Amino acid sequence: MTDKTIFSRIIDGELPGTFVYQDDVVVAIRDLKPAAPVHVLVIPRKPIPSLQHLDENDVELAGRMLLAASRIAEQEGLEDGYRLIVNTGPNGGQTVPHLHLHILGGRKMTERMVP
Ligand code: 5GP
Repeated sequence: MTDKTIFSRIIDGELPGTFVYQDDVVVAIRDLKPAAPVHVLVIPRKPIPSLQHLDENDVELAGRMLLAASRIAEQEGLEDGYRLIVNTGPNGGQTVPHLHLHILGGRKMTERMVP
């Protein structure tokens, strides 16, 4: 058995994944069950469990994740906009305990999650 996260196993090539971006800090793969025509997960190589576990040492990493998301959205042709989601913890609906951003695009996001 391994205690590595699914995403660490994909990053390490132990499980398949469709990579759309990689640098020294983050990778991005297509979601297995896309909720939009473009659904990409931006994942830090460091297996931080969730946003709740970020600390001062992760400030650059957090910025690099956002910058990568912006670059990937451009690369994916999402010039009309997109949505970034970070599900966090049980109440946030997080299912994989390895921090990740969802980039959702390619359709109009009609679901209003905030007033
Ligand atoms: P969460 O619910 O934690 O915010 O998001 C986890 C996401 O990971 C889900 O959208 C789910 O479809 C995706 N996912 C789960 N397992 C795999 C996998 O093995 N490969 C890929 N590419 N995506 C996965």
